[in-house]
Amino acid sequence: MPELPEVETTRRDLSALCVGASLTRVQLPGVRTVRRGLTSEKLEGRLVGLAVEGVERLGKYLIFRLKDQNATGFDGRMDLVVHLGMSGRFLRSNEQRLARHVAGSFRFEGSRLGVEESLWFYDPRTFGEIFLSQGRVDYGIPVELAHLGFDLVSDVRSCQFRKDRLVSLFRSTSPIKARLLDQRYLAGLGNIYSDEVLFRTRIHPRRSANSLELGERKQLVQTAATVLREAIEHRGSSLADTSYRDLNGDIGSYQRLHQAYGRSGEPCVRCGERMTKETIVGRSSTFCPLCQGR
Ligand SMILES: [Zn+2]
Repeated sequence: MPELPEVETTRRDLSALCVGASLTRVQLPGVRTVRRGLTSEKLEGRLVGLAVEGVERLGKYLIFRLKDQNATGFDGRMDLVVHLGMSGRFLRSNEQRLARHVAGSFRFEGSRLGVEESLWFYDPRTFGEIFLSQGRVDYGIPVELAHLGFDLVSDVRSCQFRKDRLVSLFRSTSPIKARLLDQRYLAGLGNIYSDEVLFRTRIHPRRSANSLELGERKQLVQTAATVLREAIEHRGSSLADTSYRDLNGDIGSYQRLHQAYGRSGEPCVRCGERMTKETIVGRSSTFCPLCQGR
């Protein structure tokens, strides 16, 4: 599943491509992907003619900031929210016929796409999500995303006001791994990056969150920010199934630098001990039993 670095890479590409452009044609054949109220047909009608003012991200959600150019003031502003789900991705394409698994097709005027090109949203496993937000809460966050916690990389101003969530992250006897995956505290981490962060900080994934000492807590949060930024620089991680690709169809390269995720049975890069995999609260965790002792 795409995590923060993959979604951020997509956001940057989308931003360069379509900010300032307006939607001229929208097709949403992915009836399972279009969620929360509006039917595909109604949503298509609402989107045509709107201008893209910005593409932002919070956790694993993309937020297209849209504006009806005929409206004045704040009226006419709305947010199209997209979650890539398990294997959703955007792709630029000059195919005229919608391919299989395409849940959305967007054409623009004034974008950097080629004349014949559209932007496609692929969603083969239909766990993705596209919906029009019902409104914004504090600091412009779509109301549907108000539950999300602190985002270590986002430049959405609102995140600065969610620092209290970082404190809550450690207020639990649950395993730290489970807390890292819970989007209400740190938004954007999934299985790959939480394994990497715990490995680097030498913390056992099963340790209870509230047992971490102050120094460990600080180090964990700082390391998470570092790992996420490094992964963004490498344009994310594409696993063996290469389901994650960028807008041009290219894969990321951070998977080559993984030290924990996917390395079960292989020697630890630090101490040589055999890496192990365990299921913790329903999710697999790969770690070094020696370096990450309890
Ligand atoms: Zn080790």
